[in-house]
Amino acid sequence: MTILWRGVGMQWYTTNMTSPLVIVVGTGNAALVAALAAHDRGAQVLVIEAASKELRGGNSRFSGGIFRFVHEGAASLAPLVDRADNAGRYADVLIPPYTRDEYLDDVMRAGHGRPDSALVSLLVERSRETVEWMQDRGVRWELTVGKLIDRTKLAPNGRYELPAGGAVRSVGEGVGLVDDLFAAVDRAGIEIKYESPAASLITQGSTVVGVRIRHRNRFTDVRGTAILASGGFESNPEMRLRYLGPGWDLVKVRGTRFNQGTMIQAALLAGAQPAGHWEGCHAVPLDADAPAVGDLRLTDKLSRYSYPYGILVNRDGQRFIDEGEDQVWLTYAKTGAAILRQPGAVAFQIFDQQGLELLEPRYVTGTPVTGDTIEELAMKLAIEPSALRETLDGFNTAAPANATFDAFRLDGVRTNSSLEPPKSNWARRMIKPPFVGYRVTCGITFTYGGIAIDTDARVLDTEGRPMPGFYAAGEVTGGFFFHNYPAGAGLMRGAVFGRIAGERAAAYALGER
Ligand SMILES: Cc1cc2nc3c(=O)[nH]c(=O)nc-3n(C[C@H](O)[C@H](O)[C@H](O)COP(=O)(O)OP(=O)(O)OC[C@H]3O[C@@H](n4cnc5c(N)ncnc54)[C@H](O)[C@@H]3O)c2cc1C
Repeated sequence: MTILWRGVGMQWYTTNMTSPLVIVVGTGNAALVAALAAHDRGAQVLVIEAASKELRGGNSRFSGGIFRFVHEGAASLAPLVDRADNAGRYADVLIPPYTRDEYLDDVMRAGHGRPDSALVSLLVERSRETVEWMQDRGVRWELTVGKLIDRTKLAPNGRYELPAGGAVRSVGEGVGLVDDLFAAVDRAGIEIKYESPAASLITQGSTVVGVRIRHRNRFTDVRGTAILASGGFESNPEMRLRYLGPGWDLVKVRGTRFNQGTMIQAALLAGAQPAGHWEGCHAVPLDADAPAVGDLRLTDKLSRYSYPYGILVNRDGQRFIDEGEDQVWLTYAKTGAAILRQPGAVAFQIFDQQGLELLEPRYVTGTPVTGDTIEELAMKLAIEPSALRETLDGFNTAAPANATFDAFRLDGVRTNSSLEPPKSNWARRMIKPPFVGYRVTCGITFTYGGIAIDTDARVLDTEGRPMPGFYAAGEVTGGFFFHNYPAGAGLMRGAVFGRIAGERAAAYALGER
């Protein structure tokens, strides 16, 4: 249904007053899912977006498109993944089942037991059915074959195992995901207004009755039930410094520049309750030469996640984390912060020839530095050669001489007690030169603190009561992630709660209180 703007004074009106309006703020995954769900439920929907049409899609468009959901292994994924697209790739990969308990445990363990268990349980419970719901609306899925490992470098017929919780992504990754969602939104006839940043909420006490949009020379008000899906505050250096702390104002942003936290601040001003880990964020090892904000031509290709197969040192040549603490998908999101704490906020991923075989294919966008000896590599990386030599020797002495290395599992190949910090898995001696180094820094992905919602995606006020007419989903919400995060849970959280927000907001708008 087309919405005509009459522009009387400051007000915008819908032409059809029999179909109450749901206003969705943002055009990322959470927003587009919410818009589709509200439309399905019979509401009239308007989407407003700060970015231009060219730059739409938020962080979701930059993402790897991986969705973490419950499944029963390879056979159970067959109806979901695009078999044609995976021709020849589907048969010879192993995909362990991913149970509800494992999912819950991964989020709760990563979050040091702090995540809101009611919200996380719902995320887990609704994960698989939401992926199917998205498929019904045109989102195409495929296996993540080739994402983590370049299979051409593995032994012929070698076993290849996908991470149970990260086995499926949208076809075309984040770009394909938002393309498919925009196509569905277009088919539904949902109107999107670009270059229309939401500035504040229109309220009557704790009730939200609309959204105010900022234009170059005026504001316009649009009345309706509001769903915020406007992302976190990771692109705003002032808020990063304020909430995340010193040094975070200068980090590189991996995704969109439009997630400025404007509507988080507006919601708090309107009486919404802050929730979650405000000092916490998802931040990863990123190519040190990455641009200051995400580049849509490169999306997530500058991420550097193969450090479990080598050692990670700072510019003093010292190791500073356990590179093999857990599967990379359970450690990468906190490793960016560890790098930020190092001198100059840089670090170096060092590999020997064995580790090099296991690099993610996206390392092709990087600039490897090679040395026939560790001293030569150190000099080229401007690290004191004797310091890096000492670190490598200490590591090799502490690593077992004979051990069964398994790249795809927690192999328990760990250093002995002489090494601090230890390397708890994949501690294979690095003895095959030439050595190769990649320079990395901290890249922020998204922030963990946000506004409080309940299991109906209703925004809660500072007294813990649902604010009538006000819903939220995705990165804008808090309470899900603390300290750390399992890969693929961000998009899944946005989709599960976007769908709930859309359905509930539509019911509210239609008067079904
Ligand atoms: C490089 C990269 C790779 C990633 N890979 C994965 C992955 O594989 N799997 C995974 O689960 N997660 C991944 N993530 C994280 C994931 O992208 C986010 O968790 C998810 O996209 C958040 O979705 P969202 O809809 O909440 O926010 P977004 O997709 O960021 O959408 C927010 C939208 O709101 C708009 N907006 C902001 N402020 C306003 C305003 N005031 N008015 C109007 N519009 C506004 C923005 O322009 C944007 O369109 C990745 C992120 C990045 C950056």
